[in-house]
Amino acid sequence: MGNAEGGDDVGDVDGLRGEWQTSELFGTEPNSICVGCGLCCDGTLLTHLAVSDESDLGAPLRMLGVEIIAAAEPPVFELPCPAVENGTCTIHHLHRPRACAQFECALSQAVLDGNVEPEDAREVIDMTLNVRFEVRSGRAPQSDLDHLLDRHFRGTISK
Ligand code: SF4
Ligand code: SF4
Repeated sequence: MGNAEGGDDVGDVDGLRGEWQTSELFGTEPNSICVGCGLCCDGTLLTHLAVSDESDLGAPLRMLGVEIIAAAEPPVFELPCPAVENGTCTIHHLHRPRACAQFECALSQAVLDGNVEPEDAREVIDMTLNVRFEVRSGRAPQSDLDHLLDRHFRGTISK
């Protein structure tokens, strides 16, 4: 999920999302291991993300129908996030909640720390996406996916 946030001035979010998908995404961050993963956005790794208030949530997600669960402490919004498509945040260049810009799973943190090579991380992500597909197809138990998530995406990975 990491990287910088954009502004909050949004007109047609679908048009802007399309523009991002066809140009900036692949032009600026082709090597991010997060591109095509999205496990932390699509409800696989996390169920909710914390936000401080409506302005932190931002116009793009509001326009996609996301609502804050204000009764939670801290306030949260529910995942899967409607902005994730094909494992990629489609509003990445617009305003996203601070938690989106700050979150690093154990695997992405290990890549940032130099403890895991990006190509090895990509293999782990691909394997995890494949296992998730098998689980959803009824050909593998949920515990297989949970094991991969616990081992590679939660906690800490050292060299
Ligand atoms: S690599 Fe980690 S931080 Fe990046 S999208 Fe996947 S789960 Fe999220
Ligand atoms: S706004 Fe983008 S980074 Fe944040 S949860 Fe949604 S898809 Fe993920």
